[in-house]
Amino acid sequence: MSNASMVERAERIMLGNYRPAPIAFVQGEGCQLIDVEGRRYLDLCGGIAVVSVGHGHPQLAKAIGEQAARLMHVSNLFHNVQAIELAETLAQRTGFARFFFCNSGAEANEALLKLARRFHYGKGEQGRTELIAATSSFHGRTMGALALTGQSKYQEGLGPMVPGIHHVPFNDLQAMASAINPRTAAVLLEPVQGEGGVVVPSKAYLQGVRELCTQHGALLFFDEVQTGFGRTGRFLGREHSQVWPDACSLAKGIASGFPLGAIAVSEALVDALPPGSHATTFGGNPLACAAGLAVAKIMEEENLVARAEERGQWLAGALAEIVEASPHVAEARGMGLLQGLVLKGSVQPAEVLGQVREQGVLLSLAGGNVLRFTPPLCVTQAELAQGIAAVRAVLVGR
Ligand SMILES: *Cc1c(COP(=O)(O)O)cnc(C)c1O
Repeated sequence: MSNASMVERAERIMLGNYRPAPIAFVQGEGCQLIDVEGRRYLDLCGGIAVVSVGHGHPQLAKAIGEQAARLMHVSNLFHNVQAIELAETLAQRTGFARFFFCNSGAEANEALLKLARRFHYGKGEQGRTELIAATSSFHGRTMGALALTGQSKYQEGLGPMVPGIHHVPFNDLQAMASAINPRTAAVLLEPVQGEGGVVVPSKAYLQGVRELCTQHGALLFFDEVQTGFGRTGRFLGREHSQVWPDACSLAKGIASGFPLGAIAVSEALVDALPPGSHATTFGGNPLACAAGLAVAKIMEEENLVARAEERGQWLAGALAEIVEASPHVAEARGMGLLQGLVLKGSVQPAEVLGQVREQGVLLSLAGGNVLRFTPPLCVTQAELAQGIAAVRAVLVGR
């Protein structure tokens, strides 16, 4: 087997909706990935902010293996021990009151969209059906989540979009104040925009939106799919601003690569989705929730949230030095282990990404021109330094 042969086979059999790098990985250990030809890479992409506890974690693999042998699926016609335990764990960790499990970030946002409309309907406010999201946001690819996503490139040729959704510029409180109205069911924001280019809003903005929502009787939702599970150096991104949204969506890091998503809701919303109003066949089955439980335990034992903060600070410092040293970098920004280098028009972002990859380091692009770092939370300082050296070799003094 070679990378080239896998590329050839993929091009014959896979739909063309992705543009993957010409590498096929077969094994992972911590922050290392090994391809079919045995070449090692340093993974500072982490499967796009998913692989929170690192590749091949023995404790996670064991938990999945044992649960797979015991019981994988029961359906939502019965109670589910692992889902109950995971919800209890997350309630304790986040302070949210109730949980619903699904399979992905997009599905979690679909659930929030339905929850928003159904909540107001249940209170007799049938005119409150509209949602406000931000431009340059990303909320997923299913039709509801896509309509919420504030980037037209993702919607091209896919219309008509789900109606009743409006977009306003991110981090612009005045724009939100002008848009919110008595038909607004909910506002959905990312505490830090990930796919949009690692855009960090001010705390005052998030706090101001919270006040506007409360004043106007609209719900506030945070999409914590990328920012959750320690990514920003706090368990949830919301903790930086101390804003309490009425609910949030979770996925990506929640089970470190096992498909799992969730919504977490506050006490006021516990009755918002009555029996029959929403469901999923696979969502939160015992296997996925056992993976989630193992990840929560590992994060606690290995102190990964604090480590993300500490390593993130080191990484942010190293990126700031690159801004000083490279004529091709405009800015460094981010929180914890969600960091970005904003490239100038003098370089092709895809080319830079490829050159860094040739040095054996994996990153991703966000917002078209932002080199994004989302390593596993267990990344060591030496590994980050190796990644920085590769980025410097490409961007400094070329
Ligand atoms: C990745 C992402 C999603 C979509 O998650 P999927 O699991 O791909 O459906 C939604 N919101 C944010 C903020 C994301 O980063």
